[in-house]
Amino acid sequence: MIDSTKTLCPYCGVGCGLEALPPAQAGKATNRDKQGTPIWQVRGDRDHPSSQGMVCVKGATIAESLHKDRLQFPMMRESLDEPFRRVSWDEALDRVANQIQTVRSTQGADAVCMYGSGQLQTEDYYIAQKLIKGCLGTNNFDANSRLCMSSAVSGYIQSFGADGPPCCYDDLDETDCAFIAGSNLAECHPILFNRLRKHHKQDRTVKLVVIDPRCTATAEVADLHLAIKPGTDIDLFNGIAHLLLKWGKVDAAFIDEHTAHFSDLAVVIQHYSPDIVAHRCGISEEDLETAAKYWGDSKRVLSMWSMGLNQSSEGTAKVRALINLHLMTAQIGRPGAGPFSLTGQPNAMGGREAGGLSHLLPGYRLVNNPAHRAEVEQFWRLEPGAISATPGLTCWEMITGLEREEVGVLWVAATNPAVSMPDIERTKAALKRSPFTVYQDAYYPTETAAYAHVLLPAAQWSEKSGVMVNSERRVTLCPKFRSPPGQARADWAIFAEVGRRLGFTKEFAFNNAAEVYREFAQLTHGRPCDQSGISHVRLRAEGPLQWPLSGKTEDMPSELKAEGTRAKGARIEVEKLQEKKPAIQPAAITPQPSKRLYTDLRFHTPDGRARFAAYHSRGLAEPPDEGYPYVLTTGRLYGHWHTMTRTGRIEKIMKMHPNPFLEIHPRDAAAIGVKNDEWVEVRSRRGFVRLPVLVTKAIAPGTLFVPMHWGALWASHAEANALTHPACCPDSKQPELKACAVQVVPI
Ligand code: SF4
Repeated sequence: MIDSTKTLCPYCGVGCGLEALPPAQAGKATNRDKQGTPIWQVRGDRDHPSSQGMVCVKGATIAESLHKDRLQFPMMRESLDEPFRRVSWDEALDRVANQIQTVRSTQGADAVCMYGSGQLQTEDYYIAQKLIKGCLGTNNFDANSRLCMSSAVSGYIQSFGADGPPCCYDDLDETDCAFIAGSNLAECHPILFNRLRKHHKQDRTVKLVVIDPRCTATAEVADLHLAIKPGTDIDLFNGIAHLLLKWGKVDAAFIDEHTAHFSDLAVVIQHYSPDIVAHRCGISEEDLETAAKYWGDSKRVLSMWSMGLNQSSEGTAKVRALINLHLMTAQIGRPGAGPFSLTGQPNAMGGREAGGLSHLLPGYRLVNNPAHRAEVEQFWRLEPGAISATPGLTCWEMITGLEREEVGVLWVAATNPAVSMPDIERTKAALKRSPFTVYQDAYYPTETAAYAHVLLPAAQWSEKSGVMVNSERRVTLCPKFRSPPGQARADWAIFAEVGRRLGFTKEFAFNNAAEVYREFAQLTHGRPCDQSGISHVRLRAEGPLQWPLSGKTEDMPSELKAEGTRAKGARIEVEKLQEKKPAIQPAAITPQPSKRLYTDLRFHTPDGRARFAAYHSRGLAEPPDEGYPYVLTTGRLYGHWHTMTRTGRIEKIMKMHPNPFLEIHPRDAAAIGVKNDEWVEVRSRRGFVRLPVLVTKAIAPGTLFVPMHWGALWASHAEANALTHPACCPDSKQPELKACAVQVVPI
C-alpha cells in the first residue's frame, strides 16, 4: 500500500488538493533529479472537494523545487558590503531581538516593520500579528497581498460590511452567465478555468463574457470578449448598470429590502449612455448592449476577477462598481451567482483572516475599530490600549519610510520585494538604505537576500504543519511529511522565539502549530470568518472544511467534542490527539455541501443591508501621452509563479517559459520598425527593460504586455517593475501595477 500524504498546493489561491508520495513508493524505480537526489512525486488528490484530483503544471512539479538552492543555516553580516557568515540560531535570534529592542527604545515601536506573504500559513500569520501588533504595539505588519488582493478586501468590506468571497467553486458549474473581468483564468487559475469551460461546453446556453485588453487564452473561448482600453472598467460597469436600469432589468424588491444608496448610483449612471461608454472603452455599442443583455437575461450571474481590477489606483471603486451590478439584479446568495474574487496566493485568504494586512486584526477585525481592538487585547490578555489605534504602514509605505530613515528594522518573510514591488530601482535604493533588514526565506540566493543583514532559513510547505485557505474559504491542513534542510525552522516558530527573547514568554508558549491554530480559531468565534469549529485534529479526521464553521459542539464528530469545548486559552495535548487514529476516517465522511455567504440576504453592515457605491471613473494614474504613448500592462504566465523563486528552479517550467518578452500589436511593431524576436528598449519615467518582441494580434494596438516574473537573478534588465509606478488606490492602498505609460525604441 502506498503511504501518501494529503495536502494542498502551495502556489495559487485555487488551492488544489495534492497527494505526495515518498520517492521510493512513487514507481518501480526511485525518481531522482539530475544531481541524483530522490524526489517526491505529487499528484492531484481526487478527494479534495475544491479540485477533485486536478492539478496544473506548477502543482504537478512542486516536489522538484524543494531541495534546490535552499537556505539552510542562519547567516549574518554587519554591512551589505560584507559576505555572510554562518552563525548559530541563538546568535541570529539574539541579534534580531536586540535590534528590535534598541529600535523600540530609541525610535519607538513604529520604526519596526514586518513584511510577510500569502505563502505563509495561517499559523505563521497569526503569530506574527500577535508579536507585532499585540506585543510590540505597532500595526506595521503588511503582506504582499497588498499588491494582490487588497482592493477586493476593501471592496467587500465597503459593500457588504466584511471581507470574504461569498461564492464557492460549485457556482462555476451552476451559473448561466460568467463575467470574467481582468483575469486570465486559463493561465492564472487554470483548474477553475477547466471547470468553468467544461460547464460552458456542456451547456451551450451558458454565456461567457471576458473583459480584458488582451485576447488571452481565456478570452479566446468567450462568447463575448470586451477588449476595453486599460483603466475603463468603471465606465463599462456603469454603462451596463445604465442599460439594466433603462431596460427595467433590476430587482426593485431586493434593492428596497436588502440594500442602501441605490439612488446615488442611479444619479451617476445617467451619465453613462452607450455611445459615451463605447467610445471611452474602445468597444462597439453593440458589444456593450450584448454584455448588458447577457447579464440582464440570465437567472444566475457569476462574476470573477483578479489583478486586472485589483491592481489599480481605483481598485476598490472598480470592485464596488462590479458588485453594484450584482446588487441591482439580486445576483448574490444563490447557487451560480455572486461576485467572486479569485485570490492570487495559496493563503492570502488565511492571511486576511489572521489580520495580516496593516489595517487589520485577526478575525476580520479592523485596527480603526475601538471595539475590535478591545476584543483582541482582552483575548491576548494585554493592557487596554496596547494595540495601536493607527493603521500600520503598507508595504510601499515601508519603502518610503526607509527613504525617510523612519524604519529601524525591516523584517521580510517569504516574499521577494526586490522584484515584486513597483518602481523597482527606487525600491532597491530604499532597501539599500535600510539600517537593519532580516530576510527569512526558504531559498538562497534571491534578489532580496542581497539587501539583508540577517538571513533566517525557513522551513517551507511539506517541512512544517499548518493550514491554508483557498478562494472558496476552504481550510486545508498541510501536514509536515519531510524534514526541512539543514537548520530551517517553521516561520511561526521563528517569530515565537523572537517574541520569547523579547520577554513575552507566556504569550508564545506554543508547542506546535496545532496549538497556534487552535488559539487563532478561538479568536474568530462569532466573527464572519468563524473557524472556531475547525482544528488540526478535525481537519485530519474530516479533510478540508469551509468556514464559517463555529465551535458549536453539535457540528463536531463525537471524538472531537471535548477538544472543541475547552475553555479559551487552555493548553491541550494536541499532538497526542493527532497521533490517535481519528474516530471518523476521511473515506467515511460525507463531504459537507459547499457553503455560500449571504444566503439569508443579511449582510455584515449595522443594518444588514449591502451598500451601493456611486463612482465616476478617474482613469489611469499615468495615462499615455506624446512622450510615453503606450500603456504597458503586466501579468503572469501559465507555468511561472511570481518572482520564480521556485519555478525558476524547475526544468520543465523553464523550458516552457525560458525568457521574458514584450507583446506588441503588429501595427505598433510596424510603426516602431521591429519584427518578431528583435530587441527593443521599453522606457517609462522610472526605468527601462530590454526585451525581444512577440508580435501578436492578441494585444490591442497601443497596449503592450510584459510578464512580471523575471528579476535580476534570472535575466538582465527584464524586470517589469522597473517600469511600473506606485500610485495606489486611496482605499485599499494597492498600487497600479497593471498600467503605466511607456515608450519603445528598437535596439
Ligand atoms: Fe496549484 Fe493553482 Fe495549479 Fe491548482 S491551479 S495546481 S493551486 S498552481
